[in-house]
Amino acid sequence: MNDKLAIKAAFEEKTGILVKNTITGSKLSTMSVGGLIDHFVTIENIEDLTKALSFFFSEGVKYKVVAGGSNVIFPDKISDTWILKLGQGFRTKEVISENKEGVILKIGSAIPLIGLSSEYSKKNFSGLEFAGGIPAAIGGALKMNAGAHGSDMSQIVEEVYFVNTAGNVEVFKKEDCGFAYRQSSFPGGSVITGCKMRLKKCQEGEAISKRSYFLAERKKNQPITIPSSGSIFKNPTPQLSAGVLLDSLGLKDFKCGQAQISGMHANWIVNPNRLATSSEVLQIIEKCKKKALKEEGIALKTEVKLF
Ligand SMILES: Cc1cc2nc3c(=O)[nH]c(=O)nc-3n(C[C@H](O)[C@H](O)[C@H](O)COP(=O)(O)OP(=O)(O)OC[C@H]3O[C@@H](n4cnc5c(N)ncnc54)[C@H](O)[C@@H]3O)c2cc1C
Repeated sequence: MNDKLAIKAAFEEKTGILVKNTITGSKLSTMSVGGLIDHFVTIENIEDLTKALSFFFSEGVKYKVVAGGSNVIFPDKISDTWILKLGQGFRTKEVISENKEGVILKIGSAIPLIGLSSEYSKKNFSGLEFAGGIPAAIGGALKMNAGAHGSDMSQIVEEVYFVNTAGNVEVFKKEDCGFAYRQSSFPGGSVITGCKMRLKKCQEGEAISKRSYFLAERKKNQPITIPSSGSIFKNPTPQLSAGVLLDSLGLKDFKCGQAQISGMHANWIVNPNRLATSSEVLQIIEKCKKKALKEEGIALKTEVKLF
């Protein structure tokens, strides 16, 4: 038995969790690129998560977590790194308390953000209107501090639950999460399992109409129906968006194979026919970085995570 098979067998024996090798990165990501993943595991409860992370920690196995897959680019082949996804068992939603001021919810990491935003905006709670067009799961949204229209996750989160690399369950208060522009600072390798969030009661219809307005604005400016990862780069400064910069460099519609920069928004790479390779997307990213540095002296940083 080779090393890879031996480690897979040991993992399955110790944790009782099945390892799959039939899933592709393209199926797990909204950009729809990425080849076969040699080790893919779905985790359904905290106990299994602690077992899995303890195993990875003790055996030195590299792993990454995927949630909605809307901010990750998988490589064309992924063999050494294991991919972990939290399954249905983490699609939990609990009302902790509710009064005329608002509601406090405990939300599991696998809950889709768009659905939660729709549900609570319709129920006249304010706080998640910004998230109507963000195809994240809660875990990914917390890790990225997802945001739009001047709001982000940090404004509604009270505390975050996660399992660290040693397999221990931890809780961070909002102020310990290191939330900043599209980032957080949970300990490396830890897996977020959920959060407590607070939404405020608002006037009848107020939240849902705000949410609809934001969605309509998004549809005007972003190619939301075409496979993509949303914004590829972080804005270099609050005054200069990456989209405006890349547009000024003449990069709209730039193509590499089947991947291209959107003609609608220069900070979005799209994969219109789902036929692009990861390497084509990465070549476009490199092209943007080089041009921005050479012509404007700006070092662009990716918002998307390259797996
Ligand atoms: C059409 C479209 C529109 C978008 N619009 C916006 C927008 O308006 N604002 C915005 O901020 N983003 C936007 N994005 C980007 C993306 O939706 C966000 O970054 C989102 O937060 C990613 O969530 P996810 O669940 O898809 O995470 P993934 O893409 O699966 O993962 C993102 C990162 O989080 C980590 N991660 C995921 N789950 C966990 C976990 N449980 N524990 C620890 N780490 C974890 C991953 O390892 C990875 O590093 C958009 C993307 C698309 C495709």
